[in-house]
Formats: sequence, structure tokens, C-alpha cells
Amino acid sequence: MIYLDYNASTPVDPRVASLVQEASRAYANPSSTQHGAGQQAAELVEHARQRLATAVHRTPREIVFTAGASEAAAIGIIGAMLGDPYRRNAVIAATEHKAIIQAAEAGARLGGGEVRVASVGHSGLLDLSHLNELVDDSVSVVAVMAANNETGVMGPVAQASVIARNRGALFFSDVTQLLGKGDIVDVSTHADLMVCSSHKLYGPKGAGALIASRHTQKALFPVFGGGGQEFGLRGGTSNVPALAGFGLAAELATHSLPATMRRLTALRDQLWDGLRDLGAVEINGADAPRVCNTLNVRIVGADAEAVMASLPDVAVSSGSACQSAVPTPSHVLLAMGRSTTAAGESLRLSVGTPTTDADIRASIAKLFAAALRVRELTGDLERRLDDA
Ligand code: PLP
Repeated sequence: MIYLDYNASTPVDPRVASLVQEASRAYANPSSTQHGAGQQAAELVEHARQRLATAVHRTPREIVFTAGASEAAAIGIIGAMLGDPYRRNAVIAATEHKAIIQAAEAGARLGGGEVRVASVGHSGLLDLSHLNELVDDSVSVVAVMAANNETGVMGPVAQASVIARNRGALFFSDVTQLLGKGDIVDVSTHADLMVCSSHKLYGPKGAGALIASRHTQKALFPVFGGGGQEFGLRGGTSNVPALAGFGLAAELATHSLPATMRRLTALRDQLWDGLRDLGAVEINGADAPRVCNTLNVRIVGADAEAVMASLPDVAVSSGSACQSAVPTPSHVLLAMGRSTTAAGESLRLSVGTPTTDADIRASIAKLFAAALRVRELTGDLERRLDDA
């Protein structure tokens, strides 16, 4: 099988897998620092915190470990919306991941506020003047993602953060799809809150982080405080092996970043060069800056689900994999002004470090054949319906 769905999840790097295995032997509770066994587990977590902090250009005290980006988003966004009684509203970009949309909706419901949605243009880029209109003194948090999971389009985070700051709101940016695939210095400089996830960067599943300064952490209502772990923001016994693996994965991803970006850009462009010969194809987000590994392509006249059904040995995704259990057109593509038909004809292809040249050549041939077959069948069906 050729795997081209790295935005949904990635295989665990073998070096990370051996650390996870080794760390699984540290069975004690990392909060039980009164004894050596607990200290050993705590050291693994703290080393991971240091590693992730370096990767995201922050200090260890700013890393709040969670079970993933969704959980981190809930803690950050709901926490911000309930943290200030005079600021109960949130503004989010229309193309945010469902984890962010749902967190903002929950925060609004719990605090009696509202969620305002800032529109994006045809390219998927955020409309900054619309954002500016929506942010006022009643807004606690503004969320603009660093890179979109479906199209790879990168948000204008620096400009958006200025709009948020000018009105006294916190600026939240989801870096889940950027970390390990692009430079995050700019986002890290501008964001009050960031979230990321281990399984998107060759680490184990079940680990993620909310990243915020100590000052920002104090501004959050602790919706998930529990036993006080993770600076009182994420209660519960830490998943020591997963966090240890996450830390190493983040370190490895950062060390190889320039080479990874060059390689993945070349593979993604090679994929597009092959697919464009199909004719009547277009990249969703073509005119915006995009993260290096992602290609969201519309193949006119070929329903994406039908193409995928004729491609059993190539793993791609229609819309966002995290949402594919819900058979609705992608909210991201609809927000970009695509019709339901156009959204239904769009495929997300995402390459990763294990992807080879041969994988790309073979997947072009297979995608080509599948798309032509679907186009032919669709044409046949339409002719028959016309004749009937
Ligand atoms: N944010 C983005 C941009 C994502 O792509 C994903 C996963 O698809 C998430 C958040 C949620 O991450 P997790 O699976 O760690 O909860």
C-alpha cells in the first residue's frame, strides 16, 4: 500500500518507538516524586518537556502536556472564554479544525457567549478586514491556525495576532500541521496559545501539548484541573511513554527540518506535475502559501469517494480524515467558496518522510487510472439519464 495520508497520522519513527518501549518500564506515577521510581518517571516527562520546548522556541514551563491537540484546544479555548467574565466571545477562522470549532462552541455555551466566524477568500487565506470587524472588547480569544490540515494553507498569523492584541484578546494558533514541516518561529513569537500533536510528527498517539506563557496560563479557567498536574491545567496521571516519545519526535523533526522541507516540497510538486496531465484539475489553495507536504486537488468530474473506492492500495483522504466518519462536504472547502460538487471531487494527498520517488510515480499512475475510470462511468451514467 502507498500511504499518502500523513496529515491524518504518521508512522512512529523507529528511534521514537524504542524510547517509548524503554519508557514503558518506568511504571511509577511521575507525580510520586517522594521515591526514586516516581522520580525516574518524572525525569522522562521533564526531559520530553525540555525537548518540545526547544522545538517550539519556548521554555519548559510553557509546555502543558495533554493527550493530543484536541484536548489542548479545549483546555486553551474554553479556559480563555471562561477566564474573563467580561470577555465571553471567541473569534475563529472559518477553516479551523473541528477540534477548535467545537471547543469555541462549548466555551460559548458554558459562558453564555458567542462564536464569531471570520471568512476566508477563494485561496483559503483569512480575510483580515473581516477578522478586524469581528474582534472587539468582548472577545477573549482569536483562533487562526498556522497550517490547514486539508489544504495546507498557512494563516497570516502575525497580522491576525496584532488585531487580537490591539483589542486585548488572546491569540491562539493551532500548529499541529506546521510543526516538523515548516518554520514555527514566527507563530511562536506571535501566539499566546499554541497546540500541537505527537502523532502528526512521527511520535506515538495520545500525546500533545498546549503551549502558553505562565502569565497566559494564569488567565485560563482550569476546565480540566483534576489533581493539579501540568501546572493545574491538565489533571490526570501523565502518559509517560507517549510523552517521552513525543519529546524525542519533536526534537528529531526540528533537527531535520530544512532537509525535510526540501524533500517533501519536491515530492508534492512531482505529484502535482503528474496529476495536472489529467486535465480539468485544480489545487485548492493554489494561490496561498502552503505547508510543504500537502496537495488538495479537485479532479473535475470524478467524485472523490468513487476515486478512493477504485484505489484500494493508495491511502489518501477526502476532506479531513478526522471527520470522515461524518459524510458531509468539507467545511474548509465550502468556506473557500467551493460548491458541494467541487468539494466532493476534492482529494487530500499528503506526503511524509518515508514517501519515495517510486511511491509518487506509482500513485500518479494509479490515481490517473482511477480518475479516468470514474470520469468515464460518470459520463456514461449522465448520458443514460439524459436518454431516459
Ligand atoms: N488540529 C489539526 C490542524 C489537526 O490536523 C488535528 C488532527 O487531525 C487536530 C487538531 C487534532 O489532533 P489530535 O488528534 O491530536 O487531537
